[in-house]
Amino acid sequence: MDTFWGPDFRALERADPEIAHVLLAEVERQAGGLQLIASENFTSSSVLAALGSTLANKYAEGYPGERYYGGCLEADRAELLAVERAKELFGADHANVQPHSGTAANLAAYAALAEPGDPVLTMELSHGGHLTHGSRVNFSGKWFHPIGYRVRADTEQIDYDEVRDLALAHRPKMIVCGATAYPRLIDFALFREIADEVGAYLVVDAAHFIGLVAGRAIPSPVPHADVVTCTTHKVLRGPRGGLILCRAELAQRIDKAVFPFSQGGPMMHAIAAKAVALREASLPGFRTYARQVVKNAQALAAGLTAEGLRPVSGGTDTHLVLADLRDLAVSGRDAEARCDLARITLNKNAIPYDPERPAVASGIRVGSPSVTTQGMREGEMRQIAGLIGLAVRCDPDTVAGASRLADAADEVAALVRRFPAYGRQEVMA
Ligand SMILES: *Cc1c(COP(=O)(O)O)cnc(C)c1O
Repeated sequence: MDTFWGPDFRALERADPEIAHVLLAEVERQAGGLQLIASENFTSSSVLAALGSTLANKYAEGYPGERYYGGCLEADRAELLAVERAKELFGADHANVQPHSGTAANLAAYAALAEPGDPVLTMELSHGGHLTHGSRVNFSGKWFHPIGYRVRADTEQIDYDEVRDLALAHRPKMIVCGATAYPRLIDFALFREIADEVGAYLVVDAAHFIGLVAGRAIPSPVPHADVVTCTTHKVLRGPRGGLILCRAELAQRIDKAVFPFSQGGPMMHAIAAKAVALREASLPGFRTYARQVVKNAQALAAGLTAEGLRPVSGGTDTHLVLADLRDLAVSGRDAEARCDLARITLNKNAIPYDPERPAVASGIRVGSPSVTTQGMREGEMRQIAGLIGLAVRCDPDTVAGASRLADAADEVAALVRRFPAYGRQEVMA
């Protein structure tokens, strides 16, 4: 008997043409335009293969060697490989690879280290922090007592004096750093110092930049933090999912906070895919990739500056640029829609001290992880910055604007044809 190995897309096409059509159209959308969402990337086909495997069928509540179900031998092997690879790659005492997402990882970290009502010191959402750190519409803001620190108005970088003042005034149980729209390096050693001064745990949410840490392109939070939470699908280029690293003393608390406190059965197919991605991230090629991601983001920042889009904080040390559009008198919302017409996918984003409401926003956020995976370099970043500068200035409601946007879309199509996101066969199959 031939062993069944994985998904048969031809069979899907016959069985369910509607969904098959969606899948094909999505490949074309992803590969046919520029993907500049800073939190996205293109996984390898090995990661996709693990995601499409029969481990998706397996219930494996518990941890390797202590499962609540039989038949977990291969599930155990997959999870142990993922755990060992994560510990090795990041030099961590302990790794939990079960969180379904970055949000699930943060819920578990909060549950492990604090009690409902405890004060937690976190970065304001409107200054680049994440929803799961202390927003009122989220568990973090509903069940805990968040105190927000901000960036300085002049440098647009974290105001560490304010962090210390707020820590001394409120004596938080935990201090959280790591952001979703902050282009600069974070001083983890200084955060550690402040946490020690007030006896708080330090949690670093490395969701966005853990891939740069894996590739040794930026300093690691692991030596400084009690707990590091992250996603596996951003710069790290793995499947959608979460990951928690922590000091040995906190291992049991973290594991219990993931299962049974906040999750049931782990997604074993995603865990196998995390193992694949962690192996890929440990290879020398990933270091070259991570360094190029940063160089490309810096080239984008310089190119956008030349186009009159001001990079918040003056530039970037990471994979993303937050650009202020106020000099052009274009809102983030309009810029996003205009770029979309030119096949450039990016998102509107609030800038620090933004006078607009979040749904309109004065900025856009662009990231280099996906285009760098495609093999693009600084020259292409200059071209992309030029295309963004052109697109945001075009009013699609005028004939001239619509026609210039169509020309830009053609130029984008020609560019991405030279740098296929997935090999020609993979796209055509
Ligand atoms: C993306 C992100 C998350 C959440 O990840 P999900 O997988 O979407 O739940 C958490 N924290 C930060 C800082 C992020 O950027």
